[in-house]
Amino acid sequence: MKKLLFQFDTDTHPSVFDTVVGYDGGADHVIGYGGLTPDNITPLVEGTIFTRAPKDKKNTAIFVGGSNMQAGQALFTAVQKQFFPGFQVSVMLDSNGSNTTAAAAVAKLATSGTLQGKKAVVLAGTGPVGQRAAVMLALEGAQVSLTGRQMARAAEACANMHTRFGVEITPIEAFSNADRAAAIADANIVIAAGAAGVELLTVEQWCDNPHLEMIADANATPPLGIGGTDMMDKGIDRHGKIIWGAIGFGALKLALHRACIAQLFDDNKQVFDAEKIFTLAKAMA
Ligand code: NAP
Repeated sequence: MKKLLFQFDTDTHPSVFDTVVGYDGGADHVIGYGGLTPDNITPLVEGTIFTRAPKDKKNTAIFVGGSNMQAGQALFTAVQKQFFPGFQVSVMLDSNGSNTTAAAAVAKLATSGTLQGKKAVVLAGTGPVGQRAAVMLALEGAQVSLTGRQMARAAEACANMHTRFGVEITPIEAFSNADRAAAIADANIVIAAGAAGVELLTVEQWCDNPHLEMIADANATPPLGIGGTDMMDKGIDRHGKIIWGAIGFGALKLALHRACIAQLFDDNKQVFDAEKIFTLAKAMA
């Protein structure tokens, strides 16, 4: 029986990246739908849960993606609300690679040093990757702040993560590189989660920071998020700090994403969101 992955995307066009990884993770066929909301998914979910016998339902799974974390969370919840005993399929949430990217970055940082009790700042953390990275740092016992160019967006991201995970994350308004340098003045750990091709700090703004121990930068599109680093950095020492570049931890992100897809087909009750994906990342790091 063919393994079918239904890619439910909150954006107009389903993510090509997620389609490719769906195949590489072991799906025989990936079927993408765009523009999905909690209001228009009922017939699609019904098509996944009513079509195969109980022993065969494990061969159908749903992947929720898109560029908006809150829209993805709402869609993921709405999909699962359609399930009832005996009629469900495995599901995964990874809006913009949020969970897999954040989990890979935080898991790699954890291999380089202690996160518990450390001060961590997620720069430009209002996007999907930044929000989930902030959550995972908090779950590891770090004191986490998150910056955005506008306080309202930063505060909204923190509130969203508090509602979903019960974690306390402090919002910081930081518009310029200088503002972000001030935001990390007493930080031990920095994750840069800004949009592709946006430099958030110059090398001069972090290299002499006496508190800083570790940096991970998710942005692999030049210019990188953190000046003076290399996207290939794999936990190497620069200016006395451990650096993880976007490709340096990106290999784990891709392996993790593929592993999650593969496990969706183990049975019809898998739920892959931040908690389970982060647990798997730590085992694979
Ligand atoms: P995103 O939503 O595109 O952007 C994150 C935040 O960047 C935005 O919420 C925005 O925050 C801020 N931003 C945008 N333009 C800016 C500017 N000119 N100056 C300062 N801040 C700016 O990002 P994402 O989808 O969460 O992804 C985060 C990063 O991870 C991206 O660079 C992406 O390419 C990368 N990524 C890496 C991997 C990997 O394996 N390494 C995998 C997936 C994604 P405010 O508007 O609130 O300031």
